[in-house]
Amino acid sequence: MTGNIVGLSFPRNDKNLGLEPSILSVLPRGDNVVYSPRNDNLDDSKIERYLCSVYIAGMDEFRQWAAQHDPKKVVVGGYHPTMFPEKFLNLAEKVVMGPCDDINVTLSQSNVLYEMGHYDKSKVGNARFAEGRILRTLEPNPGMNRTYGEISDAPEKPTGRAEVLKDRILPGVLTFKNPARMDLYNIRNNQQVIPDKMPYDLATSVNTSFGCYYKCDFCCTPVMFKRLTSKPLDLIRQEVDNVKRALDEADNGHKQRFLFIRDENFTLQKDYRKRLEIIASTNAKVYLFASANTLTEEVVKALKANNVYMVCLGLEDPTKFDDYPKNKHLYDAVSILKRYGIYTYLSFIVDPTKLVGKGDGDMTGAEKGKEFYELLSKHFNALQPEMVCGNFLMPFPGTRIWDDYYWMVSEDDFKHYDSKTPFLVKNELVATKMKYFMFKAQQDYFMSELYNNKVRHFEVGDTLHLRFVELEEQMNSALKLMDLRP
Ligand code: SF4
Repeated sequence: MTGNIVGLSFPRNDKNLGLEPSILSVLPRGDNVVYSPRNDNLDDSKIERYLCSVYIAGMDEFRQWAAQHDPKKVVVGGYHPTMFPEKFLNLAEKVVMGPCDDINVTLSQSNVLYEMGHYDKSKVGNARFAEGRILRTLEPNPGMNRTYGEISDAPEKPTGRAEVLKDRILPGVLTFKNPARMDLYNIRNNQQVIPDKMPYDLATSVNTSFGCYYKCDFCCTPVMFKRLTSKPLDLIRQEVDNVKRALDEADNGHKQRFLFIRDENFTLQKDYRKRLEIIASTNAKVYLFASANTLTEEVVKALKANNVYMVCLGLEDPTKFDDYPKNKHLYDAVSILKRYGIYTYLSFIVDPTKLVGKGDGDMTGAEKGKEFYELLSKHFNALQPEMVCGNFLMPFPGTRIWDDYYWMVSEDDFKHYDSKTPFLVKNELVATKMKYFMFKAQQDYFMSELYNNKVRHFEVGDTLHLRFVELEEQMNSALKLMDLRP
């Protein structure tokens, strides 16, 4: 590996499942820049700077890596440094909070003051994990001033009650002048579990906006991005050209192409159609996140005309899914998608703490669990999505549900923030059962007559089918535990 500016992502890029790491959007131009997919331990004397993106589940891995490197050469950013910048002060010279696509401008900011360990309880509720705040004292860059991971336009004065750091913790700056460094990454490393994609088909992604203006109580997007910010179309054109080049280079002519639009809620953007038209030039089958309330017939028609083959929607908690404004008209939205032949990917959230223990009234926790999965399966059968995907609840610091869960979450749990581990339940036997029930609800649906006769064939050897074959092998051993208490 040559180059003296090195990008790294924690946890490391997963070759079996994952797309382009977001650090590519932060790496500057120049031949002296490389991306290290395995987070190599390099010789510090040859490196000018390490640029590290750290997600909540990658903190342990980052700590181990950082212990072997000169902190003066390390810059960190991403969700975890945004929420807990103070935890990185011994591991990195600079900590970047919030989104950033211009590392040179971000690092050139001066007179940025950060007040340690200060928080306003009236704003953040139970702030067990909330730390200090950025105070800009000179020419604040409007919209770039961050407080508790949020943006405020007005600079604030130090309270005088806590230590103030200068130019160590910086708000990330977006200038939209730098296309993501796709040239530093091999898209053959990407893999996605989605219907119709064969293991050898290509998958890639683009990102056209940051944030979302809804504030769903469980979602960390509004914590990272207060506003919906769209990239300019010119930048998207450049990025799509780069993605197209990467696809052409990796394609031997026999592969299907799949492209994920990584935006949190793509169809919230007024000019979503223009963005889609640019992306359609890749000839890839496109899939994207949207909220059901945005999916009118006109929108779905535009999606269909521009190669969108699947839309990812969140059912979330089946007992109260329509409490979320984004989910208004979920049933109508799915039926329009069906009419236009676009697949629905429906994700749901299981809160394991609601399905165990004594339960309410006359019901035991086990009965509540049964009721929950019966209701979920009713929705599957009525909506008939092509893909369903379960996630265990991960309460994120800074979200509205955090106050209800903070006491169940220790820092050690952060490494399990992968949505597939029910870490809120500490009993391993119960946690294994929880995993099994979630797997079984999905497998039963995929193997049902209804799915195979009315939705699509499941056993077609695509990555979705193969994933479930793999999971079944893992889950078979869990079956032996089913009759054991607890
Ligand atoms: S609509 Fe989606 S991205 Fe927006 S806050 Fe809700 S869950 Fe998050």
